[in-house]
Parts: sequence; structure tokens; C-alpha cells
Amino acid sequence: MGEVVLSTSKLNRIVAIGTDAVRVQAGVPLTALDAALAAEGKYYPPAPTFMGAFVGGTIATNAAGAATFRHGVTRDWVTALRVVLASGEILEIVRGGTLASTRVPVPTYRVPAVAKCSAGYFAAPGMDLIDVFIGSEGTLGVITEATLRVVPERPALVLAFVAIDEVGAALRLVADLRRDAIPLCLSGIEHMDARCLSLLREDGVDRRAGVSLPDRARIALLMTFELPPTLTAEDAFDQIGRATDVAMAHSPLARLCRTFDSAGVFDRVEIAVPGDRARAAQLLAVREAVPAAVNARIAAAQRTIDPRISKTAADMIVPFDRLGELMALYDREFRARGLDAAIWGHISDGNLHPNVLPRSFADVESGREAILAFGRSVLRMGGSPLAEHGVGRNSIKRQLLREMYGDDGIEEMRGVKRALDPDWKLAPGVLFTPTR
Ligand SMILES: Cc1cc2nc3c(=O)[nH]c(=O)nc-3n(C[C@H](O)[C@H](O)[C@H](O)COP(=O)(O)OP(=O)(O)OC[C@H]3O[C@@H](n4cnc5c(N)ncnc54)[C@H](O)[C@@H]3O)c2cc1C
Repeated sequence: MGEVVLSTSKLNRIVAIGTDAVRVQAGVPLTALDAALAAEGKYYPPAPTFMGAFVGGTIATNAAGAATFRHGVTRDWVTALRVVLASGEILEIVRGGTLASTRVPVPTYRVPAVAKCSAGYFAAPGMDLIDVFIGSEGTLGVITEATLRVVPERPALVLAFVAIDEVGAALRLVADLRRDAIPLCLSGIEHMDARCLSLLREDGVDRRAGVSLPDRARIALLMTFELPPTLTAEDAFDQIGRATDVAMAHSPLARLCRTFDSAGVFDRVEIAVPGDRARAAQLLAVREAVPAAVNARIAAAQRTIDPRISKTAADMIVPFDRLGELMALYDREFRARGLDAAIWGHISDGNLHPNVLPRSFADVESGREAILAFGRSVLRMGGSPLAEHGVGRNSIKRQLLREMYGDDGIEEMRGVKRALDPDWKLAPGVLFTPTR
């Protein structure tokens, strides 16, 4: 499109790791950041499910992930940024400085009150300059360095996986776990619907991971718990084995087992205890295999059916109490349109990713119409049709952004863009076009 490509691969230094913060350059991949922090017993929680992302990319998209339920999104962890504007001017921004003292106009639209929102420029009365750049998708400046808060003590992770026969029962279990999240040390819950489970079976993922995905299962949940760092595998087995013992009344894993028992799923749960990295990796691989399975089928359809076939997916969030309604809406709309679709996501946040499995270009077009319809319903439910993947130049996502904030809101975003990048050099066409 006439612009240049800027590589951050040489901005690859972890500058300093402190007690509860890390100073890091933008081109450091999350895998490298995580390894360096792990070596010091520390932890950076708001990583997206994609660990191949770079620090700069996750800040530019305000990425969120499996642990957002407990820890929030990238925005909540960024305390300082070095940003290079298109003019070459370097800004050193520390959280705490308001926008009022700068040349950047504060937009007046209201950002939906949900756990995550990656939909154009952040706005709030009295907002901080740093928040303009977080989630700005490379349109306002190039992030070269960041200071991120870290958790000083890396927790002991426990993963639990269960396939459940009825969606309503799974939603009730998720609601119970959310309600008890603090004593249970719950960090987040991921879900895969029945179509995801059939894809996993087709690809033999269940056999490789050693998990049971019975045909009757309609949904599977993968739960993560962050327990005190000193918890050993033996302690974990002890809590699980003595779940009904009064002496264990307050121990998180005993409590968890009692919750599973009340939900009637105790016998089916697979658990990876602290230190059992191989089992944890297998359970995580089940969840990660879902987008891979969908993407492989889309690529095959593109190759063998129609080259115009492309990924047709949404990334929407609603307040948790509206989630059942949203799931029913997805099912109804896909069924009415005769579309094959798989849905998975971050169920504890109310954030799901419906993905069409197109068998023709007509399915792609119909899927796009469905996504716009979903977006309008999600806005009525007080949610955001753009939760964590950003907008980019995708025409449907740009339209959803317009539906969120109206033409006037988009014009206010253009005002922010003009104040920081008046020649429209950076990422032109991302989020919105230069003119109305
Ligand atoms: C398999 C997979 C799973 C994913 N799951 C999740 C998920 O669970 N949650 C989630 O939030 N996201 C998810 N994503 C999206 C992912 O978080 C983002 O793609 C990622 O954060 C972007 O990082 P990146 O380094 O790949 O950036 P890129 O894709 O290279 O860039 C993303 C955007 O950021 C801008 N950008 C990149 N670096 C900078 C910089 N230094 N300064 C300014 N702008 C910059 C780019 O211009 C672009 O607009 C997933 C992606 C994949 C591929």
C-alpha cells in the first residue's frame, strides 16, 4: 500500500528486571520475556494465547489472554513507554501524566465497561497519555521500550480439563468457579464447543494428549489456577485426596474438588499438578489445537474450493451474565444460515471467538453478515464486538468500530491521529480511512 515495513527484531534486549517490574525493548518475544522472568521466579500474566507475539505488538493491540479474568489486560501492566512519533520526536511517557496537558484531544465516546476491549483509541475523562498508545495498533507512534509490572513470585500452576455433556451445566460450573474465584485462586477458564471437540477428534488430538472427548460432550473447559509458589505436587495430591476432610475445608484444591463434585463432573476431570509440565503442556496443546484445526481447514478450502475463501471470525465480549444469551444467539444465527462454525474462547471473561468453517465463498459472505448482526446484538448487551484482536484493515472490523462509536467517534479518533501523526505516515488505513 505504499508504506514501509519496520522491523523491531534488533530491539531485542531485556534492559532490567526489578522486584516487581521489567524494562524491556519492543522486539522481545513473549517466550523470551517469560523465560527470563521465570529464571528470576517472576511472572508477566497478561500474555495472549499466542506466545510468539512481541512485547511491542501486545502493547499496540492491548492483548489479553487466558489469565485476563484474574489479572486484566496488557494496559493494566504497562507503567511506562518510550514511543517514537512519525516526526522522529521521542516521547518518554510514565503512567500518571494526564492527557489534558498535551496537544492530544480526548475523545468523548464511552468505552464499554467489559473485561477487555481492543477497539480503536482508548478514551476516558482525565485519561492518561500512555493509554492513547496502548491499543493504538501502530497508528500513532512506534513503541520501542516499555516498563511492565510483573508478579514478584511466580505462582504454582494447576490446570484442570473437563468435557461436559450439557452447555447449561458448564455455564453453571463456570459461574460457580467465578463466584469462588479468590479462594480457589482461579486465573481463567477457556472453552471449546462441540464442533471444536469434533475437530480435535478428527485430528487425533485427544489421543495424543491422552484426554477423553466423548461424542456426547457438548463443551470442554480448561481451567487455570494460580496457587502459592511453595505448593508442591505432593501437597496438591494431598488436598485432592482429602477433599472432604474438615481439616482441608479452606484449601483451594479441596474446595475445587468439592465444586467439581457438586457439578457431577469430579470423576471426569483431568488435573495437571504443579511441576507436572508434561501434563500441563498436553492440556494446553488441546486448546491450542483448536485454532490450528480451524485455520488448516480454511487454508484447505481456499486451495481446493475457492481462493476467495478467508478466515471469517469474530472476537466479541459481553458481561458474563449475558453470555448464555450470546451463545444461544450464535447457535441460532449460524443454524439459520446453514453455516458450519466452531466457537471457543475465554469463557470466564464472556469473550468467545465464533469462527465459520466455510465450504464456499457464499459461506464467507453469509458469515460476514452474521458477524455484523452479532456485533449489533453485543453492543445492545453492553459488550464490545472487538475484544482483543484489534481492528487492523479488516473491513468488517472497521465497520464494527463505526457501529460502536458512530461517525463522530471515528472523527474524534482522526483528531487524535492528526495531533500525533499529521502526515498520516504510520499504518495508514488501519482502524479508519484518512477522510470521512
Ligand atoms: C494463534 C494466535 C492466537 C492469539 N490469541 C490471542 C489471545 O488470546 N488474546 C489476544 O489478545 N490476542 C491474541 N492473538 C493476537 C495477538 O495477541 C496479537 O496478534 C499479538 O499481540 C500481536 O503481536 P505481534 O508481535 O505478533 O504484532 P504484529 O501482528 O506484528 O502487530 C500487531 C499490531 O501492532 C502494531 N505493532 C507491532 N509492534 C509495534 C510497535 N513496536 N510499536 C507500535 N505498533 C506496533 C502493528 O503495526 C500491528 O498493527 C492471537 C494471535 C494468534 C496468531
